[in-house]
Parts: sequence; structure tokens; C-alpha cells
Amino acid sequence: MDNLASLKNMKFNINVMEKDFLKDSPVIIAGPCSVEGYKVYRDVALKVKEAGANALRGGAFKPRTSPFEFQGLAFEGLKIIKEVKEEVGLPVVSELLDPRDVEMAVGSIDIIQIGSRNMYNYSLLKEAAKTNLPIMIKRGMAASLKEWLYAAMYIIEGGNRSVMLCERGIRTFENSTRNTLDLNSVALISHKYKIPVIVDPSHGTGNRDLVYNMSLASIFAGASGLMIETHTDPNASISDKEQTISIEKLKSIINKVNSLK
Ligand code: PEP
Ligand code: MN
Repeated sequence: MDNLASLKNMKFNINVMEKDFLKDSPVIIAGPCSVEGYKVYRDVALKVKEAGANALRGGAFKPRTSPFEFQGLAFEGLKIIKEVKEEVGLPVVSELLDPRDVEMAVGSIDIIQIGSRNMYNYSLLKEAAKTNLPIMIKRGMAASLKEWLYAAMYIIEGGNRSVMLCERGIRTFENSTRNTLDLNSVALISHKYKIPVIVDPSHGTGNRDLVYNMSLASIFAGASGLMIETHTDPNASISDKEQTISIEKLKSIINKVNSLK
């Protein structure tokens, strides 16, 4: 990883709403898979805030494997995110799929999420780097560590030092879980580099019953935070309900994580 050596000493300051986002790490980002509508999103936001989450998640642009599945509320979703975040006072992490949408989204979201399917989308990475928003790059589902770190280098080379990684599981021969959550990568990156790594145990397992244990395992592996799909009524989630946890479960994870700080 020779030309990644500069990453070893590089410091990362993730500034969100004029505060150091990772000051009190591990941080918790929680919320639904998709923004489903104003009322539900506001309700989830208020409840995850009360549970102690540091930020809200929720996709307006959804990269679905099947074109027949819910594709997200797109610009209407961004409008909802802006309204809810101003009302509730939590920063929002949301995925952008298209370089043409980046400029437009800047005023509505606080952290740009680059999804697993777009880790190799260099036009999107370059466009996202031009903003002054922090960027969280999810690991490509078949990406090596080196490829993932190079994606982060695209942001840094583009002039934006506010970058985090997000481990979300990789594809392996194992099919009893949706993905194989690679905590080796988290241990290795946090041992070797200073770039923060968030873990997404929701997509990493695809199974809500495994999220609590894998959240704790992620913290022990060295994660700077967790991103967890959470809903006030998990079974009513429009997308990814199998891996979405309840507010109660989120509270138990947050309490446990806080007890380890
Ligand atoms: C998500 O977090 O909303 C998502 C689509 O995840 P991934 O890109 O990891 O599949
Ligand atoms: Mn999802």
C-alpha cells in the first residue's frame, strides 16, 4: 500500500454543524433505511434523538438492486430531511447517487454518504469532494481494503480532508447472512491509519437479531461509530425491514456502548 502511506499520519477532523462529530466517539447514526414521508421521518428522528443518537440516517435516493423496488422520494425526500433536521436538531447522513445532484443536496444534508455500489464511481467522488461537507464512503461489496482506501484518497486529493469510511459487509461464499461483516478491516484500519471507520451492522448482517452483538463487536474492533437502521415500526419499513431494529433495541445498544466509553 505504498502510495497510501500518507494516510498513516493524516489527521481527520469531521466537522458537522460546527462541532467535531467524533469528539465523543463512538457515535451513533440511526434512522430508517429510506425517508418514507414527513410524518414517519419526524417521528423516528425525535425518538432516535431521545434514545441518544448523534445523527440521523435516511436515504432519499435509494440504490435498489431491483428497478421494481422503492427508489426513494428523491428531491421530495431531501426537502423532508431539511425540514426534519431543522426541527429536531440532529445532523443527517444521506446517500447521493448522481454527481448532478451533489450541489443541490448540499443545503439539505450534513454528511454525504457514498454507497457501496458507488465506491468506484470516481465522477461522484470527485464531485462530492468539491463540497465542504464530510463524506462517508461505504465499502464496495467486493472491494479490497486497498481499493476502499483509494476511494478515500480521491476525496482527499480533491481537497476535502473530512472523510470517513463505513464497513458494511462484503460478499463471500457465506449466504446465511446478507453480507459478511468484515471486522478485520476495522481492526486493521484503526490500527494502521487515523481515518475514522464507522460500522453498519444492519447491512453487514441483514438480520435485526444480530445487530446488537455485531454493534458491540464493531466497537471492540475499533469503530469510531455505528450506523444502524432503526424505525418506530420496523416491520412497516418500506425497505430493509428484516434488518431494521426498534427504538427500544437502539436504546439498549446506545446504553451499552456508552457504558464502554
Ligand atoms: C444504505 O446504507 O442506505 C445502503 C444502501 O447501504 P449500502 O450502500 O451499504 O448497500
Ligand atoms: Mn438499507
